[in-house]
Order: sequence, then C-alpha cells, then structure tokens
Amino acid sequence: MDSRKLLAESLREMNIRASLGQIDKLVEFNELVYENNKYTNLIGRTEKENIIKRHILDSASLLSNSDILFRDVDKDNFKMIDIGTGGGFPGIPLAILLNGSKVFLLEKSKKKVEFLLFAIDKLSLTNVSILNGRAEEIARLEGYRENFEIVTARAVTKFNILLELSIPFCSINGRIIFYKSSKVIRDIEAGYDAIKMLGGTIDRLIDVNVEGLEEYRALLVLKKVRKTPERYPRIFAQIKKYPLKLKYK
Ligand code: SAM
Repeated sequence: MDSRKLLAESLREMNIRASLGQIDKLVEFNELVYENNKYTNLIGRTEKENIIKRHILDSASLLSNSDILFRDVDKDNFKMIDIGTGGGFPGIPLAILLNGSKVFLLEKSKKKVEFLLFAIDKLSLTNVSILNGRAEEIARLEGYRENFEIVTARAVTKFNILLELSIPFCSINGRIIFYKSSKVIRDIEAGYDAIKMLGGTIDRLIDVNVEGLEEYRALLVLKKVRKTPERYPRIFAQIKKYPLKLKYK
C-alpha cells in the first residue's frame, strides 16, 4: 500500500489526529530512516512498510491515549524527553504529531545523533532539540534533572537500568512512559520497590493497539511523586557493577 495512505488510515483507526502536513512529514521521515539505515544501524534491516508499522505507528500509539497521559500537563506546551532515542523512536514521530511541545531527543551514539540532526533539518522540525550524551550524566545537570513533564523510552536497555536512567529526568507529577512488550507484567511486579525508591509510582498499564502489528504492545506509565534521591543516577560503571535489584520470581 502507498505509505501516505497506510499512515493516514492507520492513524485514523488508532484515533490519532494528523493533518496532511504531518502525514507528509511522517512519510518523509520513513524515507529518511529507510535510506540512512543502509549506512547507519538505526533499526534492524527492514522494509518501508514495516518501518511504518513497527516503528512509526508504534511510536505514535502513545497519542491514542493522550487524554489520560497528558492529563496533568498543558497539552500544547510541555517538555518531553526521549531517552535512548536511537534513530528517533518514539521521539521524532511524536514531535511531528505534537504541535507546540518541546521534544528533547537524548542519544549517546554520535553516529545516530548525526542522523537525527540531518533528519530534523530536512523535516524542518523546530520543536526538537538533540542531546548527545549519556542519560546518567545528563540527568545530573541542572536544567535537565526533574525538568520534563513527559519522559519516554522504547527498547533502550534492561528495565532495572532504564528505571535509574529515566526517572530522574521527570518533574514531580509528570509521567514516565515505557513502550513495552508482553514482558511488562514481570517487570511491573519486579520493579515495584526500585520505582518507589527512585521517586516514582506505578500509575497505569495501557494496552495499545498498533494497526498492522500482531504482537502485544503496552505502555507502562509511572508517575513521579517524590524527588529522586541525589545519588541517582550513579555513574555507568557503578550501575553496571551494582545494578538495582529487581524482584523477579
Ligand atoms: N528508542 C529507539 C527505538 O525504539 O528504536 C532506539 C532503541 S536502541 C535498541 C537503544 C538506544 O539507546 C541506542 O541507540 C543506544 O545508543 C541508546 N542508549 C543506551 N544507553 C544509553 C544511555 N545510557 N544514554 C543515552 N543513550 C543510550
């Protein structure tokens, strides 16, 4: 199917509003990822239609639930950060679909950051800022720590490490949203104490429907209720040597 038609129909099915201009940008982003993935390892090797379903629509799925997720924020004017964004997922599709909100994309790989800079320039995305660095270092900087109403992460690293990397960025009453597969139930049970210790609480689990994808997809939503203790996140060597213990049964 033609990419434009596939995107327009799927977004409609998913109850996500998108203008023709936004759909054009998603189509262009799909092309950019497809072409550049031949030289930079942005995502697994795959076809354009699969990039739309598995990556662009999956990223956009958060907006099927924006009423719930953005309940405590000014919908047209909030700051969001996407940790370990890689080739821009979910950050770039969300930046395209969200008008007026400021989206920060955080990525440690210089090569991926070069692609992101190229893509936001091509797409003329004025609401995106790119941060090249490690989450555990940037989360300690003023202006980034506890300064985002929405924090997202998709397929970044092990859950115990991800909790430590992401929760510190979120402001009090903000939401941390993880894109998850069917492993999510194990992670919720096991992560309960670590989430609490880092200043979060489990807000809700939302099953999502991604048009054209068969597998189970969900959003695990945490709420930031207390400041993260100063000592977190630790330097990477410490995180690696003494990862937070989660209680898997
Ligand atoms: N979120 C993207 C997606 O869903 O396609 C990328 C997923 S990729 C498997 C994980 C990305 O997280 C990689 O690009 C990696 O460089 C980045 N990453 C891992 N640990 C990080 C850290 N501590 N700080 C910043 N980026 C990190």
